Amino acid sequence: MSSKTLTVPARLLRRCFHKPRRIFHVDPVRLYYGSPQVVTGSAVRTVDLRSDSVTKPGAAMRRAMAEAEVGDDVFGEDPTVNELQKFAADMFGMEAALYVPTGTMSNLIAVMVHCRERGDEMIVGDLSHIHVYEQGGSAQLAGVHSAVVTTLGDGTFDLDQLISKIRHGYPKPHYPRSRLVCVENTHNIQGGRVLPLSFLQELRSVADKFGLAVHMDGARVMNAAVALGIQPNVILQHCDSVSVCLSKGLGAPVGTMLGGSKDFIQRAVRARKALGGGMCQWGILATAGKIALSDMIDRLEEDHRNARRFAQGLLQCDPPLYHVDLTTVETNILRFRLQDTQMTPAEFCERMTSVDEEEVKALGQGLQVLMFPFVGNTVRAVWHLGISEEDTQLAILKAQFVAQQHKLKSIREA
Ligand SMILES: *Cc1c(COP(=O)(O)O)cnc(C)c1O
Repeated sequence: MSSKTLTVPARLLRRCFHKPRRIFHVDPVRLYYGSPQVVTGSAVRTVDLRSDSVTKPGAAMRRAMAEAEVGDDVFGEDPTVNELQKFAADMFGMEAALYVPTGTMSNLIAVMVHCRERGDEMIVGDLSHIHVYEQGGSAQLAGVHSAVVTTLGDGTFDLDQLISKIRHGYPKPHYPRSRLVCVENTHNIQGGRVLPLSFLQELRSVADKFGLAVHMDGARVMNAAVALGIQPNVILQHCDSVSVCLSKGLGAPVGTMLGGSKDFIQRAVRARKALGGGMCQWGILATAGKIALSDMIDRLEEDHRNARRFAQGLLQCDPPLYHVDLTTVETNILRFRLQDTQMTPAEFCERMTSVDEEEVKALGQGLQVLMFPFVGNTVRAVWHLGISEEDTQLAILKAQFVAQQHKLKSIREA
């Protein structure tokens, strides 16, 4: 760990607060589609790192939405939805794609289409979004049983454990039929980890050997592609289906693309309607999705850079309060720990959010940095379209201030 003290404060403060109306780091894509944070004279500046789902559509995206050509998509007649679906299928290297309201619905549809026979089972990671954060929808709504494998630190799982979970006794009447295995890329709970291509390749051969379909919850698979410097179809060639969120770092207000074979998507259209996801003139939304997929992918690199910059800033904090493993910082999600277990992640997040007079005096302005306490006694911070390099530096400044205050408080109490 570096013992270097942060050098930002004085210079940064002068730049940030004494010329209130300037916009820094002008990034044309951000200005065009995103909602840049303009520094105003207001007393508190907010940096929202809770999730990449908080992005708001900017002027150009809203204009495109207002002008979108539409039709009734339940009849397959919305030209903008059709265009988006064709565009996504080509990008994924898959036969077809379907526009779906949310990632949760998209994953559920995939489970329903892959696991069609009563008594079908899917195998999922115990820390996967499908298993942890989707209310058990596959059991609740699709009647699909699940078996879990242990999610490893890099978002993968052990393939021997996977093989041990497959119901080799099927079709004996005691057993469900193992039908599907799901992976998550990038892995949210494990801090935006990118699944290695070699893992996906080996998984594919296991799946082929045992007759399993592979579904990828690729909510952030574009972050994975950018981090690996490859096209998404190189990742997705190992999957039968994929679910890709347009509403996270890609900046669309809603929407997820589900990709797969023609037959898979035909069945997915039926499942989507049964779940209440058949929408009429939603080319108005699809046009934002098209912009997200065509114009917003390269920009993700900037989020990855800022996440890394912040992680390095935490490591350089003096006094030290944060523990970060830089080798795990691959994309736009950062998980870190507090070295002092006296302070819980929830208390830390509260400190990062609250602004008091002492802070305003010391920093010249209040900084409110929003993050979530996360799985395994960690804190999660997520970068996105609404966060600039300057926001990132300010968040470091606040983390530094919180560390100093914490040290002073510990000394006073000792
Ligand atoms: C956000 C997310 C989803 C889908 O969430 P929705 O809010 O339903 O769109 C699925 N998987 C992962 C890993 C996610 O981060």
